[in-house]
Amino acid sequence: MKKRGILVLIVAAGTGSRMHSETPKQYLKVGSPEKTLVEFSLHALQKALPEAHFFIAVQKGDTYIKNLTLTNARILETGGATREETVYNTLLAIKDEFDPESFVFVHDAARALVDPADVRALYTKALEEIHSKRAVGVVLAMALPDTVKRMNLNETLTEDIDRAGLIRIATPQVFPLHVLLIALKESKEATDESSAVRSLGLPVKALIGSAKNFKITNPDDLVLAKRLTESPMKTRVGIGYDSHRFVGNRKLILGGVHIPYEKGLDGHSDADVLTHAIIDALLGAAHLGNIGLLFPDSDPAYKGANSIALLKEVVKRLKENSWRILNVDTVLITEAPKINPHLKAIEGSLAQALGLTAEDVSVKPKTNEKLGFEGREEGMSAQAIAMIAKVN
Ligand code: MG
Repeated sequence: MKKRGILVLIVAAGTGSRMHSETPKQYLKVGSPEKTLVEFSLHALQKALPEAHFFIAVQKGDTYIKNLTLTNARILETGGATREETVYNTLLAIKDEFDPESFVFVHDAARALVDPADVRALYTKALEEIHSKRAVGVVLAMALPDTVKRMNLNETLTEDIDRAGLIRIATPQVFPLHVLLIALKESKEATDESSAVRSLGLPVKALIGSAKNFKITNPDDLVLAKRLTESPMKTRVGIGYDSHRFVGNRKLILGGVHIPYEKGLDGHSDADVLTHAIIDALLGAAHLGNIGLLFPDSDPAYKGANSIALLKEVVKRLKENSWRILNVDTVLITEAPKINPHLKAIEGSLAQALGLTAEDVSVKPKTNEKLGFEGREEGMSAQAIAMIAKVN
């Protein structure tokens, strides 16, 4: 007794000449994490038809498939000169194991974004149509929203075609094993299974599914497929604050830039209040602690430390944790000295340490209208916000 089952045949034997790529298109990668188109197709069909037997048809000597981990799928080196030859060769190789009434789903590996729900709906429709003998098979199709015309070799429009009733044929296409074997034996020139079956005079039905089931054929299709399969960027923001007291006989350092002034800021390090606020914003966004934990002022190593060097160390730690800095914005609150003449230098210095362009770093000086410790010119405070993104 032969097994009555659902057979899924993924055709991955093309050379993909239209993609202008060394790698055959079924092995190009999309998504995050990246997977090849053949893996995308297999996983979508396995999700839709977990009970099925899976076969992947490749060309003889295919070296790409060997590098993939494909579970519950048999690889057959049955690739032919044409797609229909490949399908026919594959069916010949497996036909003796299965009942001739078994359903065969033939799917193009390049239709990698097929919706599992559409495939399941196709199976339900195939059961109804085939058992009621209204059709011998069912194919997944897509609507045709565009106006269709014919054009000759001189790029002249030659015929307006009535769009009513026109659809785009996709895959999977489902037929009983014995029907496909007869049809493909008769017409190996057919461009899809439904044409071969229809050339026998047998009725085939279509199910309109998602337009995402387009065939990834050209470089533009690949760009679109990548966009549709990328995970949204994971971003975080962090906030930082710092303040330091003014004292005499100290250099005033802001964002790593020496600002000529009669006073400087007091502190264990160079007391660069602006850079300290940025460090805490970055550490907060990445949840990597805070400046006091990383660079304790009880540690003599940080006495007089160059805060820009500390910032660079923090940038390195974010990188090690797969975070990329998107932008940093800051507020610097002080009555004096005037900061605006030094903005370009400060933003440039910070951008360099952050690995950003000056456009992505903003410093906004403010007075405090004579209020509070900043207003009394006892000290200076800084606030910072940073946005970071996870690198895939
Ligand atoms: Mg500080």
